[in-house]
Amino acid sequence: MVGRTDSLIRVLKPRDFPIALVVTIALTLLLTTFMAERVNSYLLNNSRQEALQDTTNHAEAIRHALQHELIKFEVIAQAIRSVIERQPNLSQSEYQDLVAPLVETSPSVINVGLSSGYVVDRVFPFEGNESVLGVDYRTLPTQIEGIDHVLNSGETTLLGPVDLIQGGTAFVQRSPYFIEGDGSGSSPSSGVISVIIDRETLLSRIVEGHGIGDHDVAIRKLDPNSNPSGILYGNDDVFKQSPVLNSLPIGSKAWQIGLVPSDGWPKDVSASALVWALSAVTCGVIGFLLLALWTIYKSKRTVENQLRSAINSIEDGFALYDQDDRLVFANDKYANYYNLTHDAIFPGNTFENILRAGLKAGQYSEAIGREEEWLKERLAAHRNPTEPVEQKLADGRWLKVAETRSPEGNTVGFRVDVTELKQAQQRAEAANQAKNNFLNIISHELRTPLTSVIGYARFLENLSVLRSYKALEQAMTTSCDIETRKRALAELHSEVASMSNRITTSSDHLLNLINDILDRAQLEAEKIKLHPEPLDLKDLVKTVTTGLEIKAAEKGLTLQTDVAAVPMVADPKRLRQALINVVGNAIKFTESGGIHISSEHDESHVRIMVRDTGCGISAEDFEQIFDQFVQVDATVTRRNSGTGLGLAITREIIALHGGKIDVESNLGRGSTFTISIPINANELEIAA
Ligand code: ADP
Repeated sequence: MVGRTDSLIRVLKPRDFPIALVVTIALTLLLTTFMAERVNSYLLNNSRQEALQDTTNHAEAIRHALQHELIKFEVIAQAIRSVIERQPNLSQSEYQDLVAPLVETSPSVINVGLSSGYVVDRVFPFEGNESVLGVDYRTLPTQIEGIDHVLNSGETTLLGPVDLIQGGTAFVQRSPYFIEGDGSGSSPSSGVISVIIDRETLLSRIVEGHGIGDHDVAIRKLDPNSNPSGILYGNDDVFKQSPVLNSLPIGSKAWQIGLVPSDGWPKDVSASALVWALSAVTCGVIGFLLLALWTIYKSKRTVENQLRSAINSIEDGFALYDQDDRLVFANDKYANYYNLTHDAIFPGNTFENILRAGLKAGQYSEAIGREEEWLKERLAAHRNPTEPVEQKLADGRWLKVAETRSPEGNTVGFRVDVTELKQAQQRAEAANQAKNNFLNIISHELRTPLTSVIGYARFLENLSVLRSYKALEQAMTTSCDIETRKRALAELHSEVASMSNRITTSSDHLLNLINDILDRAQLEAEKIKLHPEPLDLKDLVKTVTTGLEIKAAEKGLTLQTDVAAVPMVADPKRLRQALINVVGNAIKFTESGGIHISSEHDESHVRIMVRDTGCGISAEDFEQIFDQFVQVDATVTRRNSGTGLGLAITREIIALHGGKIDVESNLGRGSTFTISIPINANELEIAA
């Protein structure tokens, strides 16, 4: 079966489809996931970068603001120091006037105290801090060490947070000041400027005043070894969430600021889940679609295969051509019928191309010599199909070509092998023709001798009309000469004898004819039985030639035999009859030259060859001359007489002996008939 879809699925075979499905889904899954992961990781990186940058910026801003604020406290202390070192006796009210503008922009400052030596003797603001005045650091064991450190080192220190008496916690910045003794006798002195800073106010103001946005902020202290040593602001948990860290050195220690986005850092978990979910959905959809396609394809293939195998199993050729007259598919039978055009019968090729290939290869016997004309007629019939037509192929087969147009404009073609039917029809026609010929011939062959017999018999009935009789009558009445009378009688006798002879010859001919017809009839009815008996081939052939020598001699032909003395078992009467037919024909159809009978034999068979130099037989007549009533050339035959039964009878007789008869011939140069039969007819299971 050749079909268009075969070529369409050449790349993907049906059995590969499930594998292709799985591979496609897997690849799609991998690809989709890979792509999604790439996109996700890109987005994630971006958002992480953004978050990191944003958080870093905030941390830096807080650190900067904090530093700025602490510097401000130092500036306050420095300002007080520079004044107090020049005016050590500054009164409480002067001190207040000095400090008030300095702390105006620092709301986290609770108070600023000033000690002369270890005793606090001035404070701002005075209100609410009256109790501070007079405090002697030497009576405060928790503070004396810090005070001494400040005085000894001359450095400003920031302590805390420390618990306040009035509640809350605060940082304490202490800065020393030193007063040189002057010439008037005052001795050098020193003291400490203490700036008390409310922790909550300081840190909240700074953190919240710098737009921390959606961030969680925590500030903790680090010891000189950079280990955390207490939380200053916010929740310690911030430091457990991979915060952005920024440190602010405070002496040998530091404050560490930690910042994280309030919602945490961008996570890839949800994105990955989304990616996988998307991949799964995509693959599901693709898988479903492919499965649906596969199911449709499979059911289509099943129907198509059923149709194909049904079409392929029909005994006749089938082909379908589309609207453009291109072959859609054809079954094997179709392609086999047109064996010379086999290569051109493929889907997609046009009907015209296939015909042209056939014409080139000599596929269509009727087209030979008139190819273009035939092509036009054939195409016209194909495009407007009407009645089925018969087509003769190069190999002698006959096809019945039936074509119809479908409503869609396709052409459906059937090719039915009608060779046997055609041959039977031809045989029937030939047989009919042969019978007609036979009737013509037979009526002639019967009438001619019968007319002679009747005519001569009438003469014999009424001798008085004969010239010789009249001569005898006259001699008897007018002449007394005995010799004259004898001569007249002899003439009459001769004429009567001649007539009797003609009657006998015609009767013999008639008898032969009737015998032939009867033999043939018997053979047809299978009534002839062989009576095999031992005989010698040479002797048998001799009896044949003896009877025919005269005929050959009459035509001036030689009749030679070169036959071996082969003992054999056969029906002598029938074998002789067969040989007489063949040798008789050789004489009958030879005008000059001669006939040569020879033999060959082996252990099982003997072959008798009858060769003549006669008119010969054309090759196309070889087979049919053995059919009954067939005469090749009516003119020659008529001249030679005959019934067309001889060879048919001969073949039957030879076949009954288990043998066969063949002919070889060159037209105009002669023929050789070869009879081949078993040496012992009894050993064969023949019809005898
Ligand atoms: P017929 O009675 O006509 O001879 P046959 O059956 O014997 O009938 O022969 C059939 C035909 O075969 C003959 O009519 C003749 O045309 C042809 N034929 C037979 N033998 C020969 C031959 N030796 N040479 C030429 N033609 C022959």
